[in-house]
Amino acid sequence: MSVNYAAGLSPYADKGVCGLPETFDNPEELKAKVETLAQLIKESEYLVVHSGAGISTASGIPDFRGPKGVWTLEEKGESPHFDTTFENARPSLTHMALLGLQRAGYLKYLISQNVDGLHVRSGFPRDLLSELHGNMFVEECEKCGRQYVREKVIGVMGLKPTGRYCDVMRSRGLRACRGKLMSTILDWEDALPDRDLNKADEASRRADLALTLGTSMQIKPSGDLPLLTKRKGGKVAIVNLQPTKHDKHAHLRIHGYVDEVMKQLMELLGLEIPKWEGPTVCDRSAPDSTTTDVKPPRGVTAKRKVKEEEERKREAAAPTDDVSAEEETGLVKRERSDSSVEIKGEK
Ligand SMILES: [Zn+2]
Repeated sequence: MSVNYAAGLSPYADKGVCGLPETFDNPEELKAKVETLAQLIKESEYLVVHSGAGISTASGIPDFRGPKGVWTLEEKGESPHFDTTFENARPSLTHMALLGLQRAGYLKYLISQNVDGLHVRSGFPRDLLSELHGNMFVEECEKCGRQYVREKVIGVMGLKPTGRYCDVMRSRGLRACRGKLMSTILDWEDALPDRDLNKADEASRRADLALTLGTSMQIKPSGDLPLLTKRKGGKVAIVNLQPTKHDKHAHLRIHGYVDEVMKQLMELLGLEIPKWEGPTVCDRSAPDSTTTDVKPPRGVTAKRKVKEEEERKREAAAPTDDVSAEEETGLVKRERSDSSVEIKGEK
C-alpha cells in the first residue's frame, strides 16, 4: 500500500500552519545547546519524549507541515515525495537513539503522533509508548481490545473494520473471541485512543523534563501534553527546525536536524545507539520483557488490560490535581473546541 496514508483520510479544511521557514543553529550554537540538553537529561528523574513526523523524514517518510510536507504541498496543489514504503522504512538514528535512552534508564516514556510504526518496529517497549494517532501496522479487536501488530500495513484507515477477526481464545480455550478487528489509524474527527492518551497524560504530569522532537505541536491534545509537564514544574526542551506552537514555553529551543542532535547527545551521555536488525516488537519493558518477531505473544493483551484497570482504579482514588489552566480543559476532556487550530489527530 502507498506510503501516502494522508490520501486515505477525509478532506479536512484546517490543517494548521504549514510551510513555515526552517531555522538552523550554527554548529557552535548547536553544540552548546546539546550540551545543555545532556545536562538537563542527566539531572532529570522522569524524562518523557514527544515525537512527531520530523523524526521519520530521515527514514524516507515525508512530514506534514515542513517545506516539503504533505499538507504544505497539498496547499500548493502538489503531491509529496516518498522514498520508501512503510514496510521498507528503516528506523532513523533518532528512533534507535530513543531506544538507547530508554535502555539506559533516562527515557521513561515515549509519546508519538506518528502512525508509521517505526517506534514499535525499532523494538521500543510498547508498554512505555503511546501512539496517539494509531499505527499503520496495528489492528485492534473491538470486542476484547487485543491488538495485533502485523508485518504489513493494515491498509484501512479511520478506525474501520479491516475484514479480519480476533482469534484470541476465550476462557478454557472453548472458542475464539471473533470480534471485528479495526484499524487503529485516526481520521480527522476520531477521538484519540483512551488507553494511550491516559498513559501519555499521566506520564506528562509525572515528567520533570519533556523533550519534543520533530513536531510543531499544532495538534490537540497531543501537542499540548508537554505543557502539562511545565505546569507541574518541569522543563520543556524543543528540537525542531520550524517554529512550534509552544516555543515560548521552552527552556531550551534547538534548531537542528533531530538525527544530528541525538547523535551528539548520545556521545555526550556516553551511550551507544543500538543497531537495528530488522522489525522487532517488544511488548513489555524489562524485567519480564518479551521481545519477539513481528507476531506478539498470545495472552499479553489480556494481562495488560487487567493491569491497566487496576491503574485506572488507583488513579480514580488519587486526589485530583489543582491545575485549572484553560489550555488543559480541552486536553483532559478531549472535547472539540471552536478554536481554529483544533485538529483531531495528526495527519
Ligand atoms: Zn477479541
